[in-house]
Amino acid sequence: MTCVLFYHFPGSPGNGIYIYGNLDDRSPMRYRRGVFVNKIMILRRLFLASLLLFSTGCAAPSRPILADLPTGSLIDLTYSFGSDTIYWPTEEGFVLEKGPAGKTKKGYYYSANRMRLAEHGGTHLDAPIHFHADRNTVDQIPVQQLIGEGMVLNISWKCRTNRDYQVRVDDILEWEDQNGPLPPDVILLIRTDYGKEWPDRLKYLGTDLRGEKAVADLHFPGLDPDAARWLTTQRKIKAIGIDTPSIDYGQSTQFQSHVRLFEKNIPALENIANLHLLPPKGFSVIALPMKIREGSGAPLRIVAILQ
Ligand SMILES: [Zn+2]
Repeated sequence: MTCVLFYHFPGSPGNGIYIYGNLDDRSPMRYRRGVFVNKIMILRRLFLASLLLFSTGCAAPSRPILADLPTGSLIDLTYSFGSDTIYWPTEEGFVLEKGPAGKTKKGYYYSANRMRLAEHGGTHLDAPIHFHADRNTVDQIPVQQLIGEGMVLNISWKCRTNRDYQVRVDDILEWEDQNGPLPPDVILLIRTDYGKEWPDRLKYLGTDLRGEKAVADLHFPGLDPDAARWLTTQRKIKAIGIDTPSIDYGQSTQFQSHVRLFEKNIPALENIANLHLLPPKGFSVIALPMKIREGSGAPLRIVAILQ
């Protein structure tokens, strides 16, 4: 349970200290006004906050930290989850079990559903543990690694005539010739334009069959394992994304791009939407997955902010 406390001093409008913290589950807690309150911890933090405020001459931030986020046009790079969401042929897919919906006896409206889903499907994140032991699980990936400057490598014209195309080092070098070197800590997004076929399984995956046998019929572009290794050794990227179901191409059987990226704790973002709306560079990416403890992957909400 996270407690967020705003400490406001009368007579100083707008000034205050935000205190964020994880309440220790072992400590006594009370439920009050909609939040669990750990009284001991809050009193300790109030005391520390007062010390901080007075020792810095009331130099507390005058605005919430949100004001420091990049501003610009927002582009949602996420597909809605529903019955048509594309999962691997061996998976059941996304199931929303409808719950009650309607006016209650007390007069207010209420609806609540349940859902059932695999970690890997729809717009989602692959955590490094997915293909490499002793690497980060979803909840272990630092948040900073999922927020940063974004770049789009557009290889859609090569994928149009070759469903099995794999992005090569030469493609990246060509991009750099036109746009400058990939800056460190970039989130690199590969645009194949297969996203334009979503949610048509046959056009997007190469097959609309289901089950284990259908896996051999998957045909969609991905990242060549040599390029994956090159990115991890010759460049410094935070994460990599693609508008296909997998960072390895559909015909892969060894998934070596996954292996090489994940060995270096670089997560992959898959089934990314709307990459055709982004420029090659000049935007930020925020890619936050559901924080599943020990998860190998998770549904992802990803947005771009154009500068
Ligand atoms: Zn995945």
